[in-house]
Amino acid sequence: MVVGAGFAGLAAATELVAGGVDVTVLEARDHVGGRARGLQVAPEAWVDAGAAYLGDRHTELHALMAELDLKAVPTTMRGASRFALRSDATTREGRFPPLNAVALGDLFERLDELTATVRPDAPWLTPGAEELDALTAEAWAEQHLSHPDARLFFPLFLGEMMAADPARVSILHVAFYLRSGGGLRYLNAFEGGAQQDRIDGGAHQVCERLAARLGVKVRLGEPVHAVHQDDGGVTVRSAKGEYRADVAVMALPPLLADAVEYRPELPARRASDRTARGCAVKVHLVYPAPVWRDHGLSGWSVNAQGPLLSTVDDSPAEAGVGVLTGFVTGSEAHRFAALDRGEQRASAVGQAARLFPMLPEPVGFHVTDWVNEAYSKGCYASLFGPGDWVRHGPTLTAPHRRVYWAGTETSTEFFGLLEGAIRSGRRVAAEVLARP
Ligand SMILES: Cc1cc2nc3c(=O)[nH]c(=O)nc-3n(C[C@H](O)[C@H](O)[C@H](O)COP(=O)(O)OP(=O)(O)OC[C@H]3O[C@@H](n4cnc5c(N)ncnc54)[C@H](O)[C@@H]3O)c2cc1C
Repeated sequence: MVVGAGFAGLAAATELVAGGVDVTVLEARDHVGGRARGLQVAPEAWVDAGAAYLGDRHTELHALMAELDLKAVPTTMRGASRFALRSDATTREGRFPPLNAVALGDLFERLDELTATVRPDAPWLTPGAEELDALTAEAWAEQHLSHPDARLFFPLFLGEMMAADPARVSILHVAFYLRSGGGLRYLNAFEGGAQQDRIDGGAHQVCERLAARLGVKVRLGEPVHAVHQDDGGVTVRSAKGEYRADVAVMALPPLLADAVEYRPELPARRASDRTARGCAVKVHLVYPAPVWRDHGLSGWSVNAQGPLLSTVDDSPAEAGVGVLTGFVTGSEAHRFAALDRGEQRASAVGQAARLFPMLPEPVGFHVTDWVNEAYSKGCYASLFGPGDWVRHGPTLTAPHRRVYWAGTETSTEFFGLLEGAIRSGRRVAAEVLARP
């Protein structure tokens, strides 16, 4: 039995079926994909309301795409950027912000140094882990960043990279996340980095195609609330019924896995009241064409004031529409999520028009609020708060008798990403198949 039909759960189920196991997948939502979701913005044109980007190092994802006949398309990043940091928007070649280069260089160097000290396979065993894990990223910035430009940029960087509020995440988690994803530069880069490509037609198709191959074994609308086990097997209870199986693979974000009732009880919890959900709202502004390109602009912007803290050109290939994706992250996401749709539209469309004055009125406006998604609670991924890594890290993947764990947050490689989710699914399937 696999609980959760995101990338991790479906990758696990696929491997288990290949290993000759009879598998049922129980999914709470009425669709598969979890934190990957497609959004149709025009006939034949889809964008990603959730996960979108991938890079060459995401080898398991690339292998899966090849198997499922899905292709990567490059993220468009040609042209100058727009920055609204200390003043009105300015245009600049490249992606380096118009802030003090020495101060930002020093920030990146400090983060690089910290990242290099992290034990990639076991962050809780990093030298000085207890102290680093007790410190929030906000407190770390106060201690280490003296230049106002570095202080301004650091929260924007964490918001864009991790959808993190610096006050809610430990600096050990930040350093681990950067290490796990291939380093700050790889994670932050488009060409040659983790955001180089998207999946043509949307990342959700990976899950839809995996689920289609599994057929009736994926049961939708089945939120699981209890997993009880005895010497003979597990009993999994959902809103719709009760299922019996040899083992249960819980492929859920830690906060949701922790909310399930286990009997016997778990020896250690999966999350704490300090584990943060992450805070991301994605806004898609749809125009008749990507007109910014005609003005030498890439569509990329970075902004100190919200709601759109960054924008990127996510226009679907050959679809005849222009799509600007706006990222609303960190504490700004909570503020924006609380607005009504009219206020959201007015503030996002107004900001986009100030950044890109050549824009006509949008022909489409879409908001995907991951802050309030009952079945995600980790967007982009769960954020380990102070003490979480030291407390929960050592048992994140340890099976609880017949209960096994998957999900991107259980992967020390590419934690928080689609690649990490797939790797966790493959790891857990190997564990189950190796059971005596
Ligand atoms: C806005 C956004 C942008 C992102 N951008 C990127 C990106 O560009 N690149 C990238 O690689 N990653 C990105 N991510 C992260 C990526 O989406 C995740 O790492 C990945 O999808 C996690 O997969 P998973 O299977 O571990 O978890 P999930 O996708 O969360 O799957 C868990 C599944 O379990 C289900 N579920 C939850 N509770 C229960 C229950 N009690 N019973 C039954 N089912 C349950 C959920 O509905 C869900 O389908 C982004 C995420 C978000 C939200």
